Amino acid sequence: MPELPEAEVVRRQLDAALRGATIEHVWIGRKDIIRQGRESLSWYSGTRLVDVRRHGKSVTLICERGEEKRFIIVELGMTGLLLFARESVPSDKHVHVVMKLVNGRQPELRYWNARRFGRLHLLEREAWMAYQQRRFGPDPLKVTKAEFVTLIKSCRGRVKALLLNQRRLAGIGNIYANETLFRSGIHPHTRGRHLSKRKIGLLFDEMQATLVQAIHAGGSSIQSFVAPDGNPGQFQEHHRVYQKTGALCPNGCHARIRRVVTERSSFFCPTCQKR
Ligand SMILES: [Zn+2]
Repeated sequence: MPELPEAEVVRRQLDAALRGATIEHVWIGRKDIIRQGRESLSWYSGTRLVDVRRHGKSVTLICERGEEKRFIIVELGMTGLLLFARESVPSDKHVHVVMKLVNGRQPELRYWNARRFGRLHLLEREAWMAYQQRRFGPDPLKVTKAEFVTLIKSCRGRVKALLLNQRRLAGIGNIYANETLFRSGIHPHTRGRHLSKRKIGLLFDEMQATLVQAIHAGGSSIQSFVAPDGNPGQFQEHHRVYQKTGALCPNGCHARIRRVVTERSSFFCPTCQKR
């Protein structure tokens, strides 16, 4: 499923191709794909797309008409994709939204989702800000090290559960939680408050390095993820423990990667990640 790096790859491609474009028309195939603001849909026709932002795993298109800005939040959910498409390419039944654009580098943006977890929200500024603050913790690429130390130290539960909790930290899912913990030498069941400040600092550095490397590799294409231009990511080639049960530890310690199921599947090296 798309996590922070995949959402950032989407954001960058949308920003490069569509910033400044005018939305001519928005077609909605299924009404319930819009979770909030359905009645305001017609407002967006004729507006200019002035910015594309990301917080955690969600991408926001910022639209402007005169002085007023409004916001389209796209939740990618488990399988959601935003895809550029030529008008000549037929839609399939999983395309739920089609946005026609002029004056951009792409004539069309499609929201595709085979499952029903993703949604769109059409919001005014205050509601947009409230949506982010109510539902999501800080973004792992924007949080400071000091804030991160405080966050982990306040965690009575398992550190992996905290990394996955979008209300505490927004954007990390099972792939990047496992990869980050391995690279930090931290067992997924370790309690956050039992980690030293030095170890939390290492976790912070490895978390950001892993996410940045994944973004540069175009994200991880584990299930169906492809970028808006249709290209898959390559970071799955660089995963060290995720879905590597039974493989030799890439640190060369001669142990084999294990899998336990607690907060989703945890993949770890029993030698390099001691409890
Ligand atoms: Zn090892």
